[in-house]
Amino acid sequence: MPLYIVRNDITKMQVDAIVNAANHTLLGGGGVDGAIHLAAGQELLSECRTLGGCETGKAKITAGYNLPARHVIHTVGPVWQGGGQNEKELLASCYRSSMELALERGLESIAFPLISTGAYGYPKDQALRVALGVLEEYVLKYEITVYLVIFDKTSFCLSEELFSRVASYIDDGYAAVREEEEGQRRERQMTALSYVKRAARPKKHDWSILSDSAPTPDGAERELARLLEELDESFSRALLRLIDEKGMTDVQCYKKANVDRKHFAKIRKDEFYRPSKPTVLAFAIALELNLKETEALLKKAGFALSSSSRFDLIVKYFIERGNYNVFEINEALFAFDQSLLGA
Ligand code: ADP
Repeated sequence: MPLYIVRNDITKMQVDAIVNAANHTLLGGGGVDGAIHLAAGQELLSECRTLGGCETGKAKITAGYNLPARHVIHTVGPVWQGGGQNEKELLASCYRSSMELALERGLESIAFPLISTGAYGYPKDQALRVALGVLEEYVLKYEITVYLVIFDKTSFCLSEELFSRVASYIDDGYAAVREEEEGQRRERQMTALSYVKRAARPKKHDWSILSDSAPTPDGAERELARLLEELDESFSRALLRLIDEKGMTDVQCYKKANVDRKHFAKIRKDEFYRPSKPTVLAFAIALELNLKETEALLKKAGFALSSSSRFDLIVKYFIERGNYNVFEINEALFAFDQSLLGA
């Protein structure tokens, strides 16, 4: 099931469980812990009193009381001490223990804050990698929808290096568009000029200017037949064909695309399903299509990659580098305020 990165206040999430970045006592604190207790009401604290605290990296579950979420999973993140005190393993263990509890209880959706990245001082870009690393594993394996809730803009940090590489790629892309536009403008001028020159020539019935590039009737018919053939195959059919050709199962494909099962079932059932561009690209990534193949799949749904769209450029950046990890691509898209793939 999909992994969503969303910007929200976790206390507003309507899910089976939200995760609380609590402290050892489980008796409330500041940050997200304070916000959750405030929204859930006194009864949450009363239940927490019965739990006897919690160790770092472990998790315990309570009801959600006044929250829109049915449960709260309380986990205790590590305090950042420079990275040499097992912080990474302990943080991963918070996500793992919470997921295991959710699965044990048969929960179908869960929302996490970025644990340890507030008062506990864990560097946000590193914490994000740990979170996504563990959560990706679970969404690929189990039917549970996972949200990673980012509270504010500053609490989301793509690693600086990746951020600046993608940013400069986008800048280069825009520069290329400007050059292309300039080229097209010059070409239009030239065409207009040659038209004026031709019009000024004495008229004679010379069709050669047409026949240079125009196909012969036979060629034209063949071209039309080919186009109609291409038209014949809808996006949905093309997708199912590609899944077979790549030797994937449907489940492998929609999970890798970060698309949920119901959404995929709809596409499968409706031959003329009209997907959104992010959905098409999500499947292109899952199928590990190269740029040309991606363009062809997009075309089936009436889209194209544009060099003047940040969204398109970011996806292109990853495809060109053969990085087909939808979660990493979404991380970058989120950092640049773009729609995410699949989910
Ligand atoms: P910790 O003690 O584990 O560092 P904090 O609550 O101080 O926990 O911060 C953890 C993360 O939760 C931070 O990134 C912070 O921005 C975020 N956060 C704070 N309030 C909320 C909220 N209401 N919803 C979602 N995330 C929140």
